[in-house]
Amino acid sequence: MKIAVLKERAEGETRVALTPETAKKFVALGADVAVEAGAGETASITDAAYTDAGVTVGTADQVVKDAGIVLGVQAPDPALLTGAKPDAKVAALFDPFRDGARVDAYATAGFEALSMEFMPRITRAQSMDVLSSQSNLSGYKAVMAAANQYGRAFPMMMTAAGTVQAARVFVMGVGVAGLQAIATAKRLGAQVSATDVRSATREQIESLGAKAIFVAEGGIEGEGSGGYASEMSDEYKAAQAKLVSEHIAKQDIVITTALIPGRPAPRLISDDQIATMKPGSVIYDIAVPQGGNVEGAVADQIVTRHGVTIMGYANTPAHLAPDASALFARNLYNFLSAFWDGEAGEPILDEEIGDAVRLTKGGQVVSARLKEG
Ligand code: NAD
Repeated sequence: MKIAVLKERAEGETRVALTPETAKKFVALGADVAVEAGAGETASITDAAYTDAGVTVGTADQVVKDAGIVLGVQAPDPALLTGAKPDAKVAALFDPFRDGARVDAYATAGFEALSMEFMPRITRAQSMDVLSSQSNLSGYKAVMAAANQYGRAFPMMMTAAGTVQAARVFVMGVGVAGLQAIATAKRLGAQVSATDVRSATREQIESLGAKAIFVAEGGIEGEGSGGYASEMSDEYKAAQAKLVSEHIAKQDIVITTALIPGRPAPRLISDDQIATMKPGSVIYDIAVPQGGNVEGAVADQIVTRHGVTIMGYANTPAHLAPDASALFARNLYNFLSAFWDGEAGEPILDEEIGDAVRLTKGGQVVSARLKEG
């Protein structure tokens, strides 16, 4: 089986879906691995490093020719894959809820699109879960970027010239990214508080030494469906807005990470609330690519409102390309190798994971989750 990896073509995408480490492992499974020249450059991986790992480096057409599996960070335009096997599997991010046109294009092209976003949140798939590996890095990077933007120090400093107070950091949304944001801000010496709609996160927040700030009632008890949050009632939203208004005025840094799968990101901070914050405060909105949690946040722009800086990247993990690529590539390897059939020389996906991630096959859109909407 030939596995092909193209250079990422989406603007601002610096990651790559294969590293020399995972290439070696695929070769050990018996696969032929081919990578487009320069594909690893923005993640600090040279063509020579791929060649040393047993990879053939070539042009896009050479790499794709007769490939049965294509790996990507973001799914390539199927027009680039015309030389691949007609039923080739393509494992990558598809942004399936928002990019229906790409899903349809994959169905028309006949390829088997495997959406890494739809990896089920089950224990045995944890090592295959790119949303987790990339969100973890996003939580870290958001705090580092906000700290860099903030004009004051994070830790309390007692000096001969007097005391510098510790920064107050508030994390909204305590999934994978939020937990890493809390841990990173704590390591930097900040006073950290955090909130979520899921009651199960209270213990997680406290176990990291941060203060849990919760709406008194009406949240999601336990983990929620599939571990995810859902759209909250109007009463809950009003109570949350009141709580945020009271708390946010005292914060120096706010990191927002709240997402609802298949929906725009919930709006958590209004312009009026930003106006109550101290000048010089910084808000980093990780949810900017999904529409943002913060009014006025614009991807890849630093906006100032009422003396408060609002920032967020369109693609936060792309700002940590070597680490993000290493984890993404391992997730893909863990996924395909778990199903590798030595005799067939290719992965044979099972129902639980295969049906969850498969968007298209045999010319049809087959994803139940996509059809449900
Ligand atoms: P996510 O990226 O979908 O959302 C981030 C956080 O925002 C979530 O904690 C969510 O509850 C919260 N949120 C949503 N709306 C909000 C609102 N209005 N106000 C405040 N917070 C709000 O979350 P995620 O990082 O993908 O994690 C979701 C769940 O999946 C968690 O329970 C996590 O532990 C679980 N998980 C399980 C596995 C696994 O078992 N394989 C892997 C990763 C994550």
